[in-house]
Amino acid sequence: MDAVPRMTPALDDLNREFWTGGKSGELRLTRCSACNRWVFPLSDDCPECGGSTEYQTASGRGTVFTHTTNAYPYNPAVPLPYNISVVELDDQDGLRFVTNVVDCPPEDVRVGMAVHVVFEPHGEVFVPLFTPDKQT
Ligand SMILES: [Zn+2]
Repeated sequence: MDAVPRMTPALDDLNREFWTGGKSGELRLTRCSACNRWVFPLSDDCPECGGSTEYQTASGRGTVFTHTTNAYPYNPAVPLPYNISVVELDDQDGLRFVTNVVDCPPEDVRVGMAVHVVFEPHGEVFVPLFTPDKQT
């Protein structure tokens, strides 16, 4: 896929593993060491129990929770139209990402569609995107 222009985040101690894990193909998220809950948005502390978190590798598999197609040229360099989706990871109910479903025409994206993570490299940052599982 051609890399589209993206705003990339400033890396810090909290988010570095999330944004660079894609280099080794891993979706790295914070997870509570006490109650095992995945914590996203990333945090040093668990919102459920207050325990501290550590990075673990999530499955990278999920389903489309909701989606839309953007046809407005917010950035003229980004080809239109494109998909914006909220993907819920299989790892935990309610563990959701705002992302793009790629390698698929926007009109073909469906709620409940099975997807898996792919990474788009931008220097040292690897942006997690999702692509449909192959239908058999
Ligand atoms: Zn916890």
